[in-house]
Amino acid sequence: MRSDKPIYVTQPHLPPLEEFIPYLQKIWEKRILTNAGPFHQQFEQALCDYLGVKHLALFANGTIALVTALQALRITGEVITTPYSFVATAHSLLWNGIKPVFVDIRPDTFNLDPTRIEAAITPQTSAIMPVHVYGHPCDVDAIQAIADNYNLRVIYDAAHAFSIQCHCGNVLTHSDLSVLSFHATKVFNTFESGTIVCPDSKTKQRIDHLKNFGFVDKVTVVAPGINGKMSEINAAFGLLQLKHIDRALSQRMDIDRIYREGLGTIKGIYCVASAGEQMANYAYFPILVESDYRFTRDELYEMLRAQNIHPRRYFYPLISDFPMYRSLPSAQRSNLPVAAQVASRILCLPIYPGLTAEEQDRVIAVIQGEDRA
Ligand SMILES: *Cc1c(COP(=O)(O)O)cnc(C)c1O
Repeated sequence: MRSDKPIYVTQPHLPPLEEFIPYLQKIWEKRILTNAGPFHQQFEQALCDYLGVKHLALFANGTIALVTALQALRITGEVITTPYSFVATAHSLLWNGIKPVFVDIRPDTFNLDPTRIEAAITPQTSAIMPVHVYGHPCDVDAIQAIADNYNLRVIYDAAHAFSIQCHCGNVLTHSDLSVLSFHATKVFNTFESGTIVCPDSKTKQRIDHLKNFGFVDKVTVVAPGINGKMSEINAAFGLLQLKHIDRALSQRMDIDRIYREGLGTIKGIYCVASAGEQMANYAYFPILVESDYRFTRDELYEMLRAQNIHPRRYFYPLISDFPMYRSLPSAQRSNLPVAAQVASRILCLPIYPGLTAEEQDRVIAVIQGEDRA
């Protein structure tokens, strides 16, 4: 039976509306809407506890958090980063007048390839900004060893890395700073917002000043800060979402398993290896459409869309192909062969709590090429 109900790549997780009403009532009673109010303080602590970190600063969104993280560490000159990410990664560098230097990715995890970083270091290099793509942890030790050797800072774009572990424990504490996003499309969302995980209270304090226009007290401004504050509504919603996140993560794990069972034997379809239970958050379900599949990636993409299924070519195009980046020497295709190859084959399939087994069957059937009419 053919159903025309649309299936999107993701659907934001929303708890029952009535659970949010008491939070709103409190905001209405207290009339504190922003500026580190009571929900902001509570959410900051609850999130520290959940993520297993000591210090973090809440932000209005992940992009402002990335821009501010670079400011907080006074990064200048050149920063080594990946072309295989959401465009905000590199944009945060341009907003700071920093030149991105693109380095190719690993063919298995699609994360920055540490063996290629050294060749891209110049006297102007001041930091490395890798991404834990699809929540798969980077080679944090190898990257840190290079950074230590060349006296570079490491700022992770950890937008995908909510609640993931790596072999050496908490992936969010393996760097100078890590930035998460809680945008509506992410595993954990507060409508919009984000955070910077900080190693110590002094760094957190500087970041808290920078996100509040640079104010350190009512009359003293120490830096050209920005308005990056998280509002009370977002913080309250975050507190509520934390109560539901474990269940949402385990539902995602089940969906991941069903896809692997259904797609694992199809010639030319490669289900990207997950980081493994406990380590993964199942934020995405990426597949590679290889050359021995019956159709090209774009043909499969259109076939799914014709059935009202809306996967995402994520990440395509590469950041380095956008007009503000493509004239950089490091943006040349010859410098980024693995990233270019992956971007031409990648497809992220629908995954979110509430995606039903029947809906998953519809997706799998199109990829298998069964005629179910
Ligand atoms: C979502 C995302 C961002 C931006 O976060 P926002 O909260 O939407 O500003 C940055 N980097 C990556 C890799 C992302 O996926």
